[in-house]
Amino acid sequence: MKKKPVLSIFADGVRFDSLQYMPFVNSLNSAPLETVLGYSISCHPSMYTGVYPDKHKIAFHWVKSKKKNGPYTFLSHFPDFFPFSNPYIQALASHFYAKIFLKKKASPFMGYGKLLNLPMKFWNQIDINEFKYWDDDNYINEDIKTIFELVRKNNYKHHISNMHKPNLGNLKAVKTVDPHMYDWVYYFIGESDSVSHEFTQHSNEGISFLKKLDKFIETEYKRFEEAYGIDGFDFIFWSDHGHISIDKQIDLYNLFKENGINLKNGFHLVDSTTARFWPKNETQRNEIMKVMEKIPEATLVKDEDYLNLHLAKDSDLYGELFYYLKGGVIFIYTIHGFGKETKSMHGYHPDAKGNDGLFVSNKTINTSRVTLPDVFVSTINSLGIDYNTKVGLDGENILS
Ligand SMILES: [Zn+2]
Repeated sequence: MKKKPVLSIFADGVRFDSLQYMPFVNSLNSAPLETVLGYSISCHPSMYTGVYPDKHKIAFHWVKSKKKNGPYTFLSHFPDFFPFSNPYIQALASHFYAKIFLKKKASPFMGYGKLLNLPMKFWNQIDINEFKYWDDDNYINEDIKTIFELVRKNNYKHHISNMHKPNLGNLKAVKTVDPHMYDWVYYFIGESDSVSHEFTQHSNEGISFLKKLDKFIETEYKRFEEAYGIDGFDFIFWSDHGHISIDKQIDLYNLFKENGINLKNGFHLVDSTTARFWPKNETQRNEIMKVMEKIPEATLVKDEDYLNLHLAKDSDLYGELFYYLKGGVIFIYTIHGFGKETKSMHGYHPDAKGNDGLFVSNKTINTSRVTLPDVFVSTINSLGIDYNTKVGLDGENILS
């Protein structure tokens, strides 16, 4: 395959319809991008490896531990030390434990979030899902390679900026380079996501950020054009998912309480848009399902849905009962925070309105809806990297 320099720019959570606020980006070819059911932690491996979550198996920050001892087992030996399961004390305990001890074992991009609303007696049952950083060798395993590993192994001259601490993802902190002599330049912008969570994406603050982002992209694009000529390089700008304004909050702990059940008596993981339950027996399972049926915006993921959504049918990852919420609805009192102040969210079903990301290129885009694995396959194709994996790639080269 012929090698071509590639400029890749990623911005977290930019909605497809936000193109209207980005005149330069909007002047290029674009298509909506279909996300996966999950948060960014599931999206990134899909776009860096070209395979869906059913193959890379990164589902969430926390999963049910396969081992006898998980990373938090030590702390869970003292459940009665904090008899009221105070979320603030739990947050402090998990925060410092992660900072001091767990960091030595692994340092994934997503880090080790605080554990607020899962009683300590269950902490021995959890494990982190992501152990390595995206650009570490064998981030997923021996068989599934990332774009970062491939670029390194093929001795491509590359420059990656803003994907590591400090200043992680801040637009102002991007260290740009003169494109000459680089095969691949990757700029990582996370700020688009945090601005959207705080203000919503189509707020004045959101729009003003998008305009700055558009200017940044235009500048870097023009530098590539000057260095390599109009057709001399491939440009890809994309996001991993959209963002949906929140119009309803649900307190799951309260709802269960109203129905005579203390949710904290069972092992469960609740985050903003999803809830996972591991009921002890059939009775508990039915109890949980009965309460969850009272939420018209909650959908239970059925066997066939796992297949259609490319999720592994693995109860360690998704629980015995896995629910997601309708776009615009969130659970508050999540595993890692309260979430009451958040104005916009993602992590919904890929077909939820507003949840499409975007994909933009200077090349022709040969599909009506791009997938996350397509991003990987198209990038390595442009770079001229020959790669296949025995688990099979889920994306296609969509550029010509
Ligand atoms: Zn986010």
